[in-house]
Amino acid sequence: MTRISTDILVSGGGVAGLAAAALFGSAGFRVICVDPAPPVTDEAADGADLRTTAFLQPSLKVLREAGLWDRLAPHATELQVMRIVDAGGKTPAPRITRDFNAADVSDLPFGWNLPNWLLRREMVARVAELPNVEFRPGIGTKSVLTRDTEALVTLSDGTRVSARLLVAADGRHSPVREAVGIGARTIRYGQKALAFAVTHPQPHGNVSTEIHRSGGPFTLVPLPDRDGRPCSAIVWMERGPEALRLFAMQEAEFNAEMTARSGAIYGPLTLITRRTLWPIISQIAHRFSAQRTALVAEAAHVVPPIGAQGLNMSLADLRVLLELCRGAPAHIGEAAMLEMYHRRRYPEVAARVTGIDMLNRVSMQGAPAIRDLRGAGIAALYGLPPVRKTLMRAGLGVRLG
Ligand SMILES: Cc1cc2nc3c(=O)[nH]c(=O)nc-3n(C[C@H](O)[C@H](O)[C@H](O)COP(=O)(O)OP(=O)(O)OC[C@H]3O[C@@H](n4cnc5c(N)ncnc54)[C@H](O)[C@@H]3O)c2cc1C
Repeated sequence: MTRISTDILVSGGGVAGLAAAALFGSAGFRVICVDPAPPVTDEAADGADLRTTAFLQPSLKVLREAGLWDRLAPHATELQVMRIVDAGGKTPAPRITRDFNAADVSDLPFGWNLPNWLLRREMVARVAELPNVEFRPGIGTKSVLTRDTEALVTLSDGTRVSARLLVAADGRHSPVREAVGIGARTIRYGQKALAFAVTHPQPHGNVSTEIHRSGGPFTLVPLPDRDGRPCSAIVWMERGPEALRLFAMQEAEFNAEMTARSGAIYGPLTLITRRTLWPIISQIAHRFSAQRTALVAEAAHVVPPIGAQGLNMSLADLRVLLELCRGAPAHIGEAAMLEMYHRRRYPEVAARVTGIDMLNRVSMQGAPAIRDLRGAGIAALYGLPPVRKTLMRAGLGVRLG
């Protein structure tokens, strides 16, 4: 049986795990990253992740430090305005529209949108450049034993790894979280999200638009033009049975239905990728650390895709963890460091999970009276410049005060 040692073992090579490998590797730590599912790095391939990620301003610093931004920037679409639309009237036509313009609080756009399959492609390439990082796709974490001095991890190929720090980035059903005995609180909504891309006749103008009617938001996020036509990624949240109905619908009928749901703000929408379906939950682990182990990303927290918070919170986890490791490299993974990680991340994440849970519940409402209240709420909140700016900074993850 092979036995090896490393500074950091990252369990999970999804977008968060690969970002962790690139970040800690770029900082000079010895890293091994494992994942039983090899990454799909081509949009047309089966199993490609057709979601996109809107990276908000604070994430840019992390992507730069990970040596990723130069690779990603040429493919990114700038998001300058976040538009919130209430379409809760008798028809799906927009009845209240409010804009958050990044220019009100910053010289930069509020975010940059990138397809997840492309993130994987560029992250795998970045990790391959780093001699101190080893990515082992096709191999997973099988069992975990921790003690004061190390995490001893047995991989699915029989290799035993002694790591000073085990980073659990192995998703919402995290096998590492389970192995170290940390529970999680889960909220189910009976809701799913369809994620896909469309073209449309009218340009998006770098505006990301969230339209609220019932069942959850319908969000259009700008992508680069495709074959000379303006293009957007869509996340369409609905109650489970309705989402399944839309998923199975004939394409022409689907195009008509989504155009109606969009309020035809960009004219007729045309589907240009497969439709993919994602179950929606909120979840937060009871703790973000255990002996020699840190939970990050969906292993620690899951939120509905509202306000582009999920992966951005994950990069914030990595930023804090790296800061702690860099500050005391001789003490990586020790109890005091991991306690500090938990204390710095847990309250902030818990507040965001609560906030997004509330927004999602409000957005799901179908009763006309509640929809009217929601519309009035949007108009009032966004109408007051100081409140709007505070909300924007909080949404962007920019420190207040
Ligand atoms: C529709 C939708 C839209 C979204 N849009 C945004 C957005 O705009 N902005 C944003 O910030 N976030 C967004 N999110 C959230 C974001 O997509 C997720 O936070 C992110 O993809 C989760 O990444 P992850 O690496 O934590 O988990 P995963 O992608 O689930 O990766 C976990 C990995 O762990 C691996 N694994 C499983 N078992 C093992 C094992 N035993 N050993 C090792 N590895 C293992 C799995 O194979 C998998 O590759 C969105 C989410 C949804 C559903």
